[in-house]
Amino acid sequence: MAMIRHSCHFLRKQLSPIAASVANHHCWWSNVEMGPPDAILGVTEAFKRDSNPNKLNLGAGAYRDDNGKPYVLPSVIKAEEQIVGMKLDKEYLGITGLPAFTEKAADLAFLPDSDVRKESRNVTVQSISGTGSLRIGANFLAKFLDSKAIWLPTPSWGNHNPIFGHAGLQIKQYRYYDSKTCGFDASGAMEDLNKIPEKSVVLFHACAHNPTGVDPSFENWKEMSAICKSRNLLPYFDMAYQGFASGDTDRDAQAMRYFVSQGHNMLLSQSFAKNMGLYGERVGAFSIVCADKEEAKRVESQVKIIIRPMYSNPPLHGARIASTILSDPALNEQWLTEVKGMADRIISMRSQLRENLANEGSTRNWQHITDQIGMFCYTGLTPENVDRLASEFAVYLTRDGRISVAGVSCGNVGYLARSIHQVTK
Ligand code: PMP
Repeated sequence: MAMIRHSCHFLRKQLSPIAASVANHHCWWSNVEMGPPDAILGVTEAFKRDSNPNKLNLGAGAYRDDNGKPYVLPSVIKAEEQIVGMKLDKEYLGITGLPAFTEKAADLAFLPDSDVRKESRNVTVQSISGTGSLRIGANFLAKFLDSKAIWLPTPSWGNHNPIFGHAGLQIKQYRYYDSKTCGFDASGAMEDLNKIPEKSVVLFHACAHNPTGVDPSFENWKEMSAICKSRNLLPYFDMAYQGFASGDTDRDAQAMRYFVSQGHNMLLSQSFAKNMGLYGERVGAFSIVCADKEEAKRVESQVKIIIRPMYSNPPLHGARIASTILSDPALNEQWLTEVKGMADRIISMRSQLRENLANEGSTRNWQHITDQIGMFCYTGLTPENVDRLASEFAVYLTRDGRISVAGVSCGNVGYLARSIHQVTK
């Protein structure tokens, strides 16, 4: 880098003023350092380079069918056909998105007959999937939250830290995962939550915690709700997997809805990437549950002021797909069956992986594989185990030992169990 800077300087000295100004342009970013590669993309790159015919990529977090192929939900295809047939225009949406979509997204999260919905206490706007939703929330908190701090579980989804950090919030952590049990560290979490200063924000994964797959029990949620009440903490639910975790959209929302029922005002980020398979369409919603309708109006006006300079207004197509599925009763029913199908396949792969490990003769306790839920499993494999899996078996995962269960199939679960057993026995 220093050499490039030096040669740029040397060039400028030698050249005519015009040529030097061109050379100057080439040197604008000479002090920009190479950033580290994204951990998950790095896994995919290594996977692509491997020529082993048995190779397996368990890094990327996208659903695959039992043949390892991306899955476009038949309900999505039907909705798209309806939309195309209507020959709708492509005008801009408003800043808050497609009203037919935001209404239905809020109903899916809170239920249509909930107090929040009946009293119009929610602000719900369309967002660029879950990530964009979190970013609206982050910017809102950075502007209006006095403490400017957010508490995340340890560990949390890798993008939470930069999303909240780039918005200017201070990131703090509470204990969550217990590596000894590969389960929830209930006592650690409660102890830490009890110490968080009043009027702070705490982030919860509504279900299917990423990266661990470890969710608190309903009793744990009740206790956390009570702590948030007594400490006057504002909960922020990140709900990226509603329906995708258990196969039931109500069950996956029960922790968040319980908090609402206890009178918490809160923030909520929803993604339709996983549960509708709309990854690249970027469909999501951001909500704030307010004290009353009047507060909601004021808050909405400020959310719009945050969105407008970021991307002006959200994309149309995916929101039309989601709103069609959520509005048409027959399509909605079909979608619920399809989400359950995805969740059930993942749940069944967890059992098969555990069974295959036992059949291989592994004496380790792999119960956490079936206790955990959702797309990801924190296997408890060490970085050294992970390196051996890649070099000796062409099985690729992130070095924290997380596997995407969506990448496991009837065809490869035996090979995966054999490989894991070889590196852990
Ligand atoms: N939150 C969590 C916890 C996630 O796992 C994800 C997806 N990996 C997201 C948010 C957002 O994803 P997207 O922007 O694709 O909706």
